Amino acid sequence: MVSRVIPVDPFDLVIFGGTGDLARRKILPGLFRRFCAGQMPQEARVIGAARAELGADGYRDMVREAIHEFGGDEGSDDTKLGAFLERLHYVAIDARDEGGWRDLAGLLRHRVIRAFYFSVAPSLFGDLAERLNNHGLTDNDSRIVVEKPFGRDLASARQLNGDLAAFFDESQIYRIDHYLGKETVQNLMAVRFGNMLFEPLWNSQFVDHIQITVAETVGVGGRGDYYDKSGAMRDMVQNHLMQLLCLIAMEPPARFDPDAVRDEKLKVIRALEEVEPHHIVRGQYDADPDDPENLPDYRTAVEDPKSRTESFIAMKTHIANWRWAGTPFYLRTGKRLCARSSEISIMFKDTPHSIFGEEAGRHRNVLSIRLQPNEGIQLGVTIKEPGPGGMRLIDVPLDMTFADALGPSGAENVDAYERLVMDVIRGNQTLFMRGDEVEAAWAWTDPLIEGWTNRGDVPKPYDSHSAGPDAAMQLMRRDGREWREVTP
Ligand code: NAD
Repeated sequence: MVSRVIPVDPFDLVIFGGTGDLARRKILPGLFRRFCAGQMPQEARVIGAARAELGADGYRDMVREAIHEFGGDEGSDDTKLGAFLERLHYVAIDARDEGGWRDLAGLLRHRVIRAFYFSVAPSLFGDLAERLNNHGLTDNDSRIVVEKPFGRDLASARQLNGDLAAFFDESQIYRIDHYLGKETVQNLMAVRFGNMLFEPLWNSQFVDHIQITVAETVGVGGRGDYYDKSGAMRDMVQNHLMQLLCLIAMEPPARFDPDAVRDEKLKVIRALEEVEPHHIVRGQYDADPDDPENLPDYRTAVEDPKSRTESFIAMKTHIANWRWAGTPFYLRTGKRLCARSSEISIMFKDTPHSIFGEEAGRHRNVLSIRLQPNEGIQLGVTIKEPGPGGMRLIDVPLDMTFADALGPSGAENVDAYERLVMDVIRGNQTLFMRGDEVEAAWAWTDPLIEGWTNRGDVPKPYDSHSAGPDAAMQLMRRDGREWREVTP
């Protein structure tokens, strides 16, 4: 299956922070792959903007190296890479002073889309917005893209929203959550709303519970300083897991358009119940004595022997509305776990009565949506075990792993950033968070963090390369349920 590529309109994309880690690892290699796919029109240009005094050639050298390293298979095609690099420009600019802004003004063209990617610390968002405005570099059609973290609590998120709203309309602001750019996440909506099969069962009458797991094998690495001020709740739950939960739980929007979808997501966040303290388990990873790399435990990694920041969190929450009353949502995420795996599982209820007798066992359908690795969707169904010997039941997966179902090109590895940057140019905000969504998510998160801080809760230690603290298992077992195994 060959995927169709429709070129976008001509654009000037300015990447503030164009020399940074995110630009080098994700944004620029992503743009290069879109260029190779034929999606960037002839007139499209990318302008790196950062503090370093590099010059256009110096910047192109830097980007060449980055694409060799992070550009995947296409990254070794020097002809294409050379053609892409010709589209690149650079200005040395400081968000906090006047240097470089006139140079940027001189580079920007009229009558093409202007997009400004703020790939810098959030503390610079306000300065950038103001200077863009003061130098007259934006018009009503210009777009700005901002990265996470969008605030660290409700007050700071409101402040950031206010800083941006002073100069831009909400329709111009693209808040990235790269989870929303994943193929499977969009497929989740296609499966729910494009089939008759699932939606009638998508409620507390038929669904026993829902599990969302985002497990990482890596520890905090070199980001210890940032991470220790944040923790799994702020870094993962408030944004990525919350967004996944919204897509699972929302009502069908009337249309697949940005505000219709985001209105429904917002209603879910506002209907989330406050989580009871005994329904939250926080953990911190220990070192693994058998680890050949001898990687440090969490507190050593963040250089604070008394840190109470969680590198793992599991919780049970409820959505107080007609569709979901009584169906728990279990969320879990953590670092240094046994496998890298992101999965949403819709656990359907047992059949009300087994006609096959107790010895056939009780079976339930599970719809599992796997975001990484091996993106795909699997439906577990119960069938008869083949062969003689009576009616024995087994569960088998109906597999919709994209690589199998669609062939290699159908599962084309389009990185979330590639898709999202192209959506910015197309002016499609569906996969971006709206300001009120982000604020509502913080309004739910803040009291939970305040609660465990005021109580002085200490995270529970867990072994590196395990599935997390035992208490997280107990959280499920108390309810007569089990987490799905974390598998690579
Ligand atoms: P980085 O520290 O590697 O790069 C920061 C960039 O900002 C550099 O290009 C630097 O020159 C530029 N910069 C710093 N101060 C500036 C100023 N006063 N004026 C103009 N430019 C300035 O950071 P990063 O890892 O690339 O992250 C950028 C943003 O993206 C941050 O908000 C981060 O939280 C977010 N983010 C990063 C990742 C990632 O994987 N790196 C993932 C998600 C979100």
